[in-house]
Amino acid sequence: MKISNKKGTILISEDNYSNMKLLKDILEFQEYEVIEAYDGNAALSKINSNSDKIDLILMDLQLPEIDGFEVIKTVKSNNNTKNLPIIVISAHAMESDIQKAINAGCCDYITKPINITTFIHKINSILKSN
Ligand code: MN
Repeated sequence: MKISNKKGTILISEDNYSNMKLLKDILEFQEYEVIEAYDGNAALSKINSNSDKIDLILMDLQLPEIDGFEVIKTVKSNNNTKNLPIIVISAHAMESDIQKAINAGCCDYITKPINITTFIHKINSILKSN
């Protein structure tokens, strides 16, 4: 049950402070609630403790502690969290990384630096179809 009047809750896992601030500002302006995680450990623990509240996860691949791929694998192997949609946000525009993320169960990817219009459009369309 949603108790907030926000459009949805998005967990951002990103270790670069400026990138985090940009993503957070955009999403909050779009009236999403944002949960921040600056490393892989924080991402996993916040995803687990907010699994009934989170509507979407934005996942950077290069993270301290536990990298993004490991976080994705763990989220997708847990019954409580495996259905949460994950979008990879990475500077890795490499086809192999994108394919690896899709194979691991991610629904989409966005390459950095992000195009703000495309970014908002993707987020809104994924959360609308929920
Ligand atoms: Mn990173």
